[in-house]
Amino acid sequence: MSNTKHGTTATTAVYGSSEMAHPAPTMTLPEKMTDAEIAYRMVKDETYAQTQPRLNLATFVTTYMDEYGTRLMNEAVGMNFIDQTEYPRVAVMSGRCINILANLWHTPEKGDWKTGAPAIGSSEACMLGGVAAWLRWRERRQKEGKSTDKPNLVMSAGMQVVWEKFCQLWQIELRQVPLTREHRTLCADEALKYCDENTICIVPIAGVTWTGLNDDIEELDAKLTAYNAKTGYDIPIHVDAASGGFILPFVSPDTKWDFRLKSVKSISTSGHKFGLVYPGLGWVIWRDKSYLPADMSFSVNYLGANISQVGLNFSRPAAQILAQYYNFIRLGREGYASIQNNCMEIARYCHERIGRMSCFENYATEVVNPLFVWCMREEYDRTANWTLYDLQAVLQQSGWMIPAYTLPKSIDDIVVMRMVVRQGMSRDMADMLLADIERAVKEFEKLKYPTSSRLAYQKRERQFGKVFTH
Ligand SMILES: *Cc1c(COP(=O)(O)O)cnc(C)c1O
Repeated sequence: MSNTKHGTTATTAVYGSSEMAHPAPTMTLPEKMTDAEIAYRMVKDETYAQTQPRLNLATFVTTYMDEYGTRLMNEAVGMNFIDQTEYPRVAVMSGRCINILANLWHTPEKGDWKTGAPAIGSSEACMLGGVAAWLRWRERRQKEGKSTDKPNLVMSAGMQVVWEKFCQLWQIELRQVPLTREHRTLCADEALKYCDENTICIVPIAGVTWTGLNDDIEELDAKLTAYNAKTGYDIPIHVDAASGGFILPFVSPDTKWDFRLKSVKSISTSGHKFGLVYPGLGWVIWRDKSYLPADMSFSVNYLGANISQVGLNFSRPAAQILAQYYNFIRLGREGYASIQNNCMEIARYCHERIGRMSCFENYATEVVNPLFVWCMREEYDRTANWTLYDLQAVLQQSGWMIPAYTLPKSIDDIVVMRMVVRQGMSRDMADMLLADIERAVKEFEKLKYPTSSRLAYQKRERQFGKVFTH
């Protein structure tokens, strides 16, 4: 039989089918059906050339879960969180996760159920924390008969893009406190200069995406408390703890960054980062229910059940929530601590080895989260024929994803490379990576002429002055 399109039969070999010899649909829905195995392979093969997820040290998001966690998620893949009449226990397990996190973060809230919500990731969780702060500010201003048309939010320029989105979508002025060489994290005194009666909240970050550092939240809280007392404002703190929320309690339990601090009214985190669940899962917790405006809880009568719902999305997958609860039971404090501390140890080991290479310099002396950034040493940079972008490209050839990028505004003349160590990275893998880096540098040092990326830098430097220093 000739292999005309759609002439596929059950006996056609997948790669002997006409579909495999023709372009995949890109614009319109195909008129006819495709054999399931062929369709499966076409989709699967689209992802074939991508890197090994565990060699991707660019992402913060979980790329390894154990077999039982994975099995639970696969078995729940069709389960909708919002179907609480059908799956009433999922809501209960979500509530238990919220309780566990609230207690891990030292909530003062009494009662059987702490106040919080699951989210698709930190992005949704940040949005919910931000909206709550904005509504609380607005209600207070309205009661005082004051204007509510100019809300603003204060945080460092080291913020993740979600805050730009939040401010854009809700039309809140984003006031970014610049990072400098002296202040590599949010400077509390500086932040307060950006505040006024219209500030809905200050957002410090535990685990700054760009650098891996932590804002000093304890200092900010102390200074903000004094500032609020002096001005009569009531500016709260929302902590963006996308990474830190699952790191600090285990690697640095005495660091005060959470509800132990008076001004911290809400905290968001990513369950799919160091919460060790596959994407997408986030959590937001409020200090107590008085900080979650009633306007944000929508009571819906859904299929006969009265459900109170906080998230931006209505339907959402339940599998991630089951997996989070599984991790809490399976690992406990001991398990999370052993995994996070191993990640820290491997990150510190890499940090030390990178710092010893004559071409590199670490951005910070300390590793406080299992990730760090480094740059080229200034003197080396002046005569090098290559850049960190070249190194990124070479490492990619052996499957490693180690991104090079410029730091945020006002320190954007610094090019860094970042390594995020997650569960799934062993000391042995770290040694393989370090050997690959050393080998690549050795090759670069044989270059007689600058690479095209180095030439581009030299050109920029001539035009705009020195751009590639530390
Ligand atoms: C990753 C990250 C976010 C966004 O989180 P998602 O879980 O990817 O939505 C927000 N803030 C910080 C500090 C982050 O690191």
